[in-house]
Amino acid sequence: MTDEAPAVPEPIFRDDVTVELVRSSAQDADVLFAARVSTAGEQSIDELGKDPARSKGLINYLMRDRHGTPFEHNSMTFLVSAPIFVFREFHRHRSGWSYNEESGRYRELQPVFYVPAAERKLVQKGRPGKYEFFEGTADQYKAVSSAMEDSYRQSYAAYQAMLAEGVAREVARAVLPVGLFSSMYATCNARSLMHFLSLRTKDERAKVPSFPQREIEMVAEKMEAKWAELMPLTHAAFNEHGRVAP
Ligand SMILES: Cc1cc2nc3c(=O)[nH]c(=O)nc-3n(C[C@H](O)[C@H](O)[C@H](O)COP(=O)(O)OP(=O)(O)OC[C@H]3O[C@@H](n4cnc5c(N)ncnc54)[C@H](O)[C@@H]3O)c2cc1C
Repeated sequence: MTDEAPAVPEPIFRDDVTVELVRSSAQDADVLFAARVSTAGEQSIDELGKDPARSKGLINYLMRDRHGTPFEHNSMTFLVSAPIFVFREFHRHRSGWSYNEESGRYRELQPVFYVPAAERKLVQKGRPGKYEFFEGTADQYKAVSSAMEDSYRQSYAAYQAMLAEGVAREVARAVLPVGLFSSMYATCNARSLMHFLSLRTKDERAKVPSFPQREIEMVAEKMEAKWAELMPLTHAAFNEHGRVAP
């Protein structure tokens, strides 16, 4: 037996986020049967696939005229791994979203931290709400990565020191920064996802431009790519009509 404090695990520094589609029940046909009940009643589900051109037209019409509820009869569950500051923004999206996130009370938080990649623009110009971002210099990038890595090491060592003293995880976690990675399941439907994408992506096709933080946009882009595979007609109509949620 030795009295030495246990070694603090070596931190992992990440510059990416991950999004996995863990389950889904979502296809363009879900929009169609929900919309066609208006005119076909309970037969609407039998009408699926009868006339693809008409189906595309119906989805376009619903999107254009903002008939939103037919886009709610589907479900996608994503497993997202991203820094806590991304989740803080994410959880502001209330309608049509369900979340469950890992706990800092019930499990020891792992030393995985966000350090931006060299291509992440570092300098902001303009006014609040409409910033433009520009490349940083090599010195700025070095300053960012070394300040973050030092600070992360220090705070994680303090967290570990408190745990080693027998302090509860829910108390010790107060020293951990928002650059720490967390993970959550997020479940939504196409309508709530479109609203999220309209606000959390920057896209020249958008009728109403948004200026999201790059890191939540990285998550949004990955979700959008997975959704586009599931519901290509709905995704195309969303783009065609200015990326406004119906
Ligand atoms: C670029 C950007 C910058 C931001 N900056 C800040 C900031 O500085 N500070 C800050 O606090 N937040 C900020 N936010 C968060 C923002 O205020 C919203 O909380 C977030 O975008 C979620 O939008 P939402 O309420 O439309 O979405 P959801 O909560 O998903 O709601 C979807 C829609 O449902 C309806 N709805 C939901 N709840 C209600 C309700 N209670 N009453 C009436 N209608 C409702 C609305 O039509 C709403 O658009 C920012 C967001 C973006 C995209």
